[in-house]
Amino acid sequence: FLSGRVALITGSTSGIGEGVARCLASRGANIVFNGFGDEEQINKLVASVKKDYNVDATFIGGDLSKEEDVKALHNHALSKFPGGIDILVNNAGFQNVSPLENFPLDVFNKMTALMLTAPFHLSKLCVGNMKQKGWGRIINIASAHGHVASPNKTAYVAIKHGIVGLTKAIAIESAGTGVTCTALCPGYVETPLFIKQAEDIAKKQGISYEEGKKYILRVQPSGEAVKIEEISECVAFLCSSAANQMTGTSLIVDGGWTAN
Ligand code: NAD
Repeated sequence: FLSGRVALITGSTSGIGEGVARCLASRGANIVFNGFGDEEQINKLVASVKKDYNVDATFIGGDLSKEEDVKALHNHALSKFPGGIDILVNNAGFQNVSPLENFPLDVFNKMTALMLTAPFHLSKLCVGNMKQKGWGRIINIASAHGHVASPNKTAYVAIKHGIVGLTKAIAIESAGTGVTCTALCPGYVETPLFIKQAEDIAKKQGISYEEGKKYILRVQPSGEAVKIEEISECVAFLCSSAANQMTGTSLIVDGGWTAN
């Protein structure tokens, strides 16, 4: 049902973003990949998506914490797909765990630039064309941390709450135009971002990786990590006509964390 649509997914060389790219391609969307990583591996990923799903796909790099790279990403995407971006998934991000007293200001600023300013900037660049076409999807990969806090994650929690707010604001501005804006809020998903945290805890507490993982997952009543496919299938749903009236809202997929 997404045949002919173009989806730009930031941070799609790994984890959730890669899963979302594959899932939207499987529904027929052409894909613009972005993110860091090994060039050869990225080329393989793009080639496999093109072949497996018979869609067009391209990779456009750039450090999205930099304003000029965000602009360049959008420009290059338009030169490849002159019809513009139909689905924007703001996903690129990273975590930094540190008590407030020691939290480096430059890291706070970089996280904000990547996870709040870039989504604002890309949404701004894409929304006009979406409105003109009368259809568009802006999907922000926020987090359960867009609704609740955890210690030692001041920047992440503030930014994820911020993107939930940005989602609401964009949604009401574009309501009735065929463009929706939603936040998808995962609990813990076992991606490199999560694995690093579990490894750090294991090292610090002198426990195994599995125990570190269990320690992190104690906040999720299910006791299980969310699977990447359980997030990417929600993105596909948000792109479907069944979700035409879902806008400004959060879809929370967190094993019961925020209900607790
Ligand atoms: P990941 O580390 O597997 O992937 C992050 C992606 O972002 C990679 O492709 C990376 O190259 C890219 N990236 C990082 N810095 C970038 C930059 N400056 N410019 C461009 N790209 C950059 O992590 P993930 O777990 O898949 O995280 C994806 C999103 O999901 C993030 O926004 C994260 O906050 C959110 N999230 C993750 C979890 C989890 O438990 N894994 C839970 C809730 C929300």
